[in-house]
Amino acid sequence: MATNNSWQLLKFGGTSVSTRRNWDNIARIIKRKQAKGKKVFVVHSAVSSVSNKLDALIELALKGEYIGAFEEVVDIHQKLLTELELPHNLLDEEYGFLKRLLDGISLLGEVTERVRALVMSQGELWATKAGQLYLSNQFEEVVLRLDARDYLFAHETPSIDYLCANCEFERDEALLNAIEDSSIIISQGFIASTRDNETVLLGRGGSDSSAAYFAAKIEAERLEIWTDVPGIFTANPNQVANARLLKQLNYEEAQEMASAGAKVLHPRAIRPAKISQIPIYIRSTVDPDIDGTVISSTENSWGMVKGVTAKEEITLVSMESQGMWQQAGFLADIFAIFKRHHVSVDLVSTSETNITVSLDNLTQVVSQKRLAGLVKGLSAMCRVEVMHDCSAVSIVGKNVRAILHKIAPAFSIFETYKVYLLSQAASDLNLTFVIDQEHSSKVIASLHELLITNNPNSEILGPTAKELKQSNVTGETKKWWQAKQGIIEKCLSERDSAYIYDLESVRNNIQNLHTISAVDKVFFAVKSNNNPEVLKTAYEAGTGFETVSLGEVNHVLTLFPNIDRSRIFFTPNFADKKEYEKVLEKEIRLTLDSTYPLKHWPEIFAGKEIFLRVDPNIGKGHHANVRTAGATSKFGIPMDELAELIAVINSYKIKVVGLHAHAGSGILSNEHWAEHARLLAETASQFPNVKYLNLGGGFGIKERSQQSELTMSHIDASLQAVQAEYPQYQLWIEPGRYISANTGVLVSKVTQVKQKQNYYYVGLNTGMNSLMRPALYGSFHNIVNLSRLNAEKEHLATIVGPICESTDKLGVEIPFPKTQEGDLILIENAGAYGRVMANEYNMRMPAEEVCI
Ligand SMILES: *Cc1c(COP(=O)(O)O)cnc(C)c1O
Repeated sequence: MATNNSWQLLKFGGTSVSTRRNWDNIARIIKRKQAKGKKVFVVHSAVSSVSNKLDALIELALKGEYIGAFEEVVDIHQKLLTELELPHNLLDEEYGFLKRLLDGISLLGEVTERVRALVMSQGELWATKAGQLYLSNQFEEVVLRLDARDYLFAHETPSIDYLCANCEFERDEALLNAIEDSSIIISQGFIASTRDNETVLLGRGGSDSSAAYFAAKIEAERLEIWTDVPGIFTANPNQVANARLLKQLNYEEAQEMASAGAKVLHPRAIRPAKISQIPIYIRSTVDPDIDGTVISSTENSWGMVKGVTAKEEITLVSMESQGMWQQAGFLADIFAIFKRHHVSVDLVSTSETNITVSLDNLTQVVSQKRLAGLVKGLSAMCRVEVMHDCSAVSIVGKNVRAILHKIAPAFSIFETYKVYLLSQAASDLNLTFVIDQEHSSKVIASLHELLITNNPNSEILGPTAKELKQSNVTGETKKWWQAKQGIIEKCLSERDSAYIYDLESVRNNIQNLHTISAVDKVFFAVKSNNNPEVLKTAYEAGTGFETVSLGEVNHVLTLFPNIDRSRIFFTPNFADKKEYEKVLEKEIRLTLDSTYPLKHWPEIFAGKEIFLRVDPNIGKGHHANVRTAGATSKFGIPMDELAELIAVINSYKIKVVGLHAHAGSGILSNEHWAEHARLLAETASQFPNVKYLNLGGGFGIKERSQQSELTMSHIDASLQAVQAEYPQYQLWIEPGRYISANTGVLVSKVTQVKQKQNYYYVGLNTGMNSLMRPALYGSFHNIVNLSRLNAEKEHLATIVGPICESTDKLGVEIPFPKTQEGDLILIENAGAYGRVMANEYNMRMPAEEVCI
């Protein structure tokens, strides 16, 4: 990694710099970066629509009718200056300069590419000037304004393309020296210069390229592209409702997606980042909290289709010739004609008598006149047919070739639609079909359904655009604690803090789990929440109880003295011999987590029914400390030690009736439990008495807005597939968090607030003595100020408790409103592993529990 400094390169598009609201957003984003000790280099576009208007102005100037349109461009900027509360004459000189350029064009009646580039560059230059002054008013630090033309230089070989240049992007000492003493920089996208100080443009989407060039030159630690969508989707979300946000792509895949029609990022911007190994983050100014797509060199899941994209308005040129193609030099002659007419080609397919090419519409616009010239030239050598209004539909993903057998059924849709050209990239990243444009939406929708919707992979695929919208707008209002805010406030009128549990949510969560029809029994993991009313609710909803200590077993037996013993399952770890004996006396099934008990005290298990807990050796979970598999974890029997137990099992007539695996907590991959089921089923053949496979808990919940939830129907489908192969086994699960986490909130009153440089602290009546998880595993809990739910979030607050430990933080840098003593602060998802871990450290009693 070339990154050894803390510069982050942030690129903002035209919309982001067009209104006060969006500039405020930019300032807020910079503040967040600063709070993390980052230095920020902003590259931006011209104000929305200004580039097109400047382009049009040139045409109007040639006709001498530009005054009205010129004033329109000035007005757009004057309006912005007013919104930003900047001096009205700030850009007067700039306006004058543009006016003189237009006068000149008008006078001469002609315009060179050099002058065109200079006119077009004004939009970015003006926006930077306004932006610098606005930001200077928001920050104490000096905001340094750079003219991009002093640092970005066009390649001059073979010749300079003034309107669509490529630039050099090696590490740049001069630039690094210039910015050394600053921490906020602002500069323009889209423009650069020649070594002779002539202005050049970087072509359509050029601001993305500028940002990538600058990032490479200063070896930034990351490049963030801020746009109005949260990232790259598996298909255009306007076309495919089920399209899902891609959480990660590697550079090659991103390049392919961008080139194949995904419009979020210009494909040219990827190369500089890739060569300098700078990760690209796509972020949304509309929803800055969504993580978006990360593009980097990491190899993610191979052999998976990442997207179905389309390039529309493709023109095909089909050339027929009787057996001429094999003749030496014939192809060269054909392509020489394309070269002569300056037409570049995208896809090519050849057969014995036909060559079909598609014209590249990403970088060129081929006029009718030019096309006619080309056709005329070609007609001398072969029969030519031109087809307009085609669409190039691509399936993108690394190693598409390797998964052809899996995706083959999807191709049956081409029985209905004619494919004019089929191309498979040599890089093995895409498969492209050119079809009639009128069919493209249908083809894309069916391919997406078959290749992505039906084959989800939750590591890579995020939520759909619709889910994202809901979680921002209506999703929040759906939470139980919002509907029951009045009840919560009443609970807190007589206390300073409380854990509040919503029993209705316990029932709903259990109901969801019961929709997994492949599962025969659900055991609720008591260690996640042992509140009697919560347990009673679970009992009534039909769950069993998974217990990890004699204490928990007795707690359950006290609450439900007549409970059927088969509804209790005991999963101890490094427990004392006496504990096993006592539980076995009560006729409760248990699982052995190690070979030690069987090797050293086999007699206590003689004639008993037991489970063996194997180590699936694929630790999963939200944090290393909650992973419970693999050699570094103390849980489970390694697979290859199971065989050693067979002799002792036989001689003591111990019945191994089940196998058990539990790999961690907070798992969000739908396929996980089916993987366990398959693993256990394959292992079970060694033990003839096995009837039950306990697949463990670990069912994750959505903790951050960008996470996608588990889908019960997918879990069910994957388990049913295993069950069809191994119908002799019953499947059990033992979730804790999934049932109890979102049913509980921790609410506490504000004691004091404190501002320390960039840090805003909100102090609560209780902290790690009530909720250990953030201090113990750095886990994330969404936190809101319940007393000011609708207030604007002005700070990045760190929420702390009153315990004398520096790790007594419940949340770090949470967007938060201005907060006052006595406000009620609510910490979400505190129902699991919350109160059960509480302690009286500092002699402060933890929050008490209230059920509603
Ligand atoms: C903790 C635990 C569970 C429950 O885990 P969750 O992540 O809360 O679902 C299930 N089984 C065993 C053996 C456990 O130790």
